[in-house]
Amino acid sequence: MEKELVLQAKNWIESAKHIVIIGHKSPDGDSVGSSLGLYNTLIKFKEDVQVCMPDPYPGFLRWMKGTDEIKNFEQHTSQVMDLMEQADLIFCLDFNSETRVGKMENSLREASAKKIMIDHHQDPSDFADITFSFPNECSTSQLIYKFLAHAELLNYLDADAGACLYCGIMTDTGSFKFPNTSPETHRIIANLMENGVDHYKIHELVFDQNTEDKLKLRSSIISNSLRVLEEYKTAIIAVSQKDLEKFNYEKGDTEGLVNVALSLGTVNRSAFFTEEDGLIKISFRSKGIENPVNGIASKYFEGGGHINAAGGKYLGTLDQAVQKFVTVLPEFV
Ligand code: 5GP
Ligand code: MN
Repeated sequence: MEKELVLQAKNWIESAKHIVIIGHKSPDGDSVGSSLGLYNTLIKFKEDVQVCMPDPYPGFLRWMKGTDEIKNFEQHTSQVMDLMEQADLIFCLDFNSETRVGKMENSLREASAKKIMIDHHQDPSDFADITFSFPNECSTSQLIYKFLAHAELLNYLDADAGACLYCGIMTDTGSFKFPNTSPETHRIIANLMENGVDHYKIHELVFDQNTEDKLKLRSSIISNSLRVLEEYKTAIIAVSQKDLEKFNYEKGDTEGLVNVALSLGTVNRSAFFTEEDGLIKISFRSKGIENPVNGIASKYFEGGGHINAAGGKYLGTLDQAVQKFVTVLPEFV
């Protein structure tokens, strides 16, 4: 991170009266973790800091300090619009294009606030006043840690804020196993632990809070909806709204199933299709840099993402979405 830009950002923080921190649609561990990590740090010395998200965060992140204060556009529409309008500084975290914030897009475009983007996705658009874009970094939460370090603000980062950053780094690195995990990642994690973050508690809070319904839903999906295209070393899971309703589906219940499909020794790529908000949402995952999935996501499914984790959408039925994927797949293997 360029020292000059960091100092400029720090100046803006110091002079701002109303700071808003926003993340992307369908917020994940890194989106919420980086936002609350920064939030819990800034509120130590700033009076008015708010976190706004396009839609609700999944329940497995509820333990983080500050989740009660998050306003989401779906449920608090006018409040979020007001906050965005009144803000004089907006942090855009874990996304790099105004199109990634769903129905909040207009509010973001029209906001007169200065904007600081901190993100690790490929191909950033140029909408922010300061852009910290580092596609080789594992997570935005790691970038927040580095930003606070460069800005000499780490003394405000307590164990609660550190736990949020730990969670973002943990989830975006697949618990420190994806290729994006670096020696620096482990050094930052070590610093967080020395600063009072209890790593084992966070793993338990995130991964070991399943309900019986959730486990049954997941096993039913794996039994009934998993398909393997051996020729293309690709696993597919397609889940309809009807499949979800059988076990009292709650947001987040199918999180990570795309990785379960990828765990098959015979595959190096997986795709998870599900019906959501009247369209088909797709998650792609793969093993190794030689099997990128962001290309297929951006070329055919109006999406994008990282080399080994990408996503997109399709307007049509579940079957049509899967059919399209199977048809274009040979181009990418
Ligand atoms: P997930 O499968 O967890 O929803 O998304 C994995 C990654 O794919 C995200 O971190 C994000 O980088 C990317 N991604 C998911 N959905 C979209 C989308 O609709 N558009 C773009 N550009 N990227 C997406
Ligand atoms: Mn991320």
